[in-house]
Amino acid sequence: MSGRTYELSNGVIEYELRCDRCGEVFVCGDDSYYSWPVLCAAAEAEGWATAPGLDGEHECAGCAAAVRQSDLVSARAA
Ligand SMILES: [Zn+2]
Repeated sequence: MSGRTYELSNGVIEYELRCDRCGEVFVCGDDSYYSWPVLCAAAEAEGWATAPGLDGEHECAGCAAAVRQSDLVSARAA
């Protein structure tokens, strides 16, 4: 549940992508804020794990890497 929208006074909607684990907010240098899929794609390009929906689970690059690491460990143990 980490996606948020802000409606600006001029009717423009901005999206915010926040990590479910550590609370880090994804910062992009362009206008990706105006489209959720575009924002997710920009974040994934930087290593984030995102879900298609605003209510899905989203993790920043650091947390996603930690999850992948633990997945590897459990895969080896299995
Ligand atoms: Zn995080």
